[in-house]
Amino acid sequence: MRSPHDQRLVAVVPRATPADADAALQAATAALHGPWATTSGTDRAERIRHVSLGLQSRADELAGIITDEMGSPAKFSLFGQVLAAAMVLEGFADLAETFPFVAERPGVVGPCLVQKVPVGVAAGIVPWNVPLFITCMKLGAALAAGAPIVIKPSPEAPVSSFVLAEVLLDADVPPGVVSILPGDADLGRHLVTHPLVDKVSFTGSTAAGRQVGALCGEMVKRCTLELGGKSAGIVLDDADLATTVPQLLDAGLQNNGQVCAAQTRILVPRGSADVVVDALVDHVRTLVVGDPRAPETDIGPVVSARQRDRVEGYVREGAAGGARLVCGGGRPVGLDGGFYVEPTLFADVDNASRIAREEVFGPVLTVIPYRDVDHAVALANDSPFGLSGSVWTADPERGVAVAGRIRTGTCAVNSGVVVEPRNPFGGFKSSGVGREMGPEGVEAYLETRTVVLPPA
Ligand code: NAD
Repeated sequence: MRSPHDQRLVAVVPRATPADADAALQAATAALHGPWATTSGTDRAERIRHVSLGLQSRADELAGIITDEMGSPAKFSLFGQVLAAAMVLEGFADLAETFPFVAERPGVVGPCLVQKVPVGVAAGIVPWNVPLFITCMKLGAALAAGAPIVIKPSPEAPVSSFVLAEVLLDADVPPGVVSILPGDADLGRHLVTHPLVDKVSFTGSTAAGRQVGALCGEMVKRCTLELGGKSAGIVLDDADLATTVPQLLDAGLQNNGQVCAAQTRILVPRGSADVVVDALVDHVRTLVVGDPRAPETDIGPVVSARQRDRVEGYVREGAAGGARLVCGGGRPVGLDGGFYVEPTLFADVDNASRIAREEVFGPVLTVIPYRDVDHAVALANDSPFGLSGSVWTADPERGVAVAGRIRTGTCAVNSGVVVEPRNPFGGFKSSGVGREMGPEGVEAYLETRTVVLPPA
């Protein structure tokens, strides 16, 4: 692993082989049929809390690792990558204690027991952008449900998962219940198609998610897909720009713009578009671009040379397609050793253009003017994706009404919260299938069984 800031060596990481995966899946199958699957929710909650505390006790170390391996700014790494992951686990610990794993319901001849039992062996496939957080979304749900899980981190950001493995050992999570296998897409495919895997939880690009979903469909495997996004932040005409602009830009540019739920389409009233664009540009110019380890840095490098090429391709395309480049667009001066792209803002963007429809996954935002609220809602919904979004207004009731019309899995009013750690997260349309976190997230690792009780 090399740092995207200056290419220095961060770690040397072994890659798991298909034989390692086979051994991990056999151990997981043994755990499924051993005592783990029938432990009480309270016992499992205790294990999950141990893991959360273990991550918190090593938070600075973990944040440093993630910053080094994929360039996340230090301040985002600590809160957005590590402490948020611990918070997700705490949510699942509470759910393990309270989830209704069994309920008695009336039946035709007598009562029935409706039982929620572990789905089987799960495979969790994780991208590089928020590696520990996404791992914990899958890990916490699987542990809460009692389903053993084999997790595959991405080749670009596997190092924090080695610390997580140590934390799991310290927490006495039994053998086979969790295995972590760093590897590439071929290992991912091996897991997806493996006969010992009953459920796949995949987070990554929509292109790869389509393939994973198709393979799962053929084999009738349970499957959760968390994919890409192109979310809209709607600035209503009564929004207070002084409070809206910094939060909205953070929701679009955090983690160097590499967040699936990033709000990369900023919808503004046509009549005041210039005022909003000026306020956005003024704020973008205050952002500190540079070494992600520096505490003051707002924007670090993107993850790789390939990712920078991709982002720059979209910037060229945006400019050539008639969008107005109002700031950024180039490489920042003095940072030639890393994969940097200036925070970039396009105004007067056509919602039908590629930079408005496709996920750029870098610090590039589009500003799209709208005529009235109905037009804003129509533009927000006119996207192949449906992951997240926000509405900004002086009138919270009006904001909630508009949020209710947006076809996305999450929509915040007057905050840049893109993921709510104790509530369901997932996508409409090409942003995915299924939900993670909250009770819905636990449910995704369960099968439902009806036991018909003897007639009275
Ligand atoms: P990616 O699709 O290239 O890879 C994601 C993971 O899947 C990696 O571990 C990779 O090795 C593995 N993989 C790739 N192809 C596979 C295949 N055919 N079969 C099995 N495994 C395969 O994505 P990435 O570049 O690592 O991550 C960025 C993408 O992830 C963006 O599109 C982003 O929007 C998305 N993402 C979505 C969410 C969400 O919750 N919706 C969260 C974070 C990232």
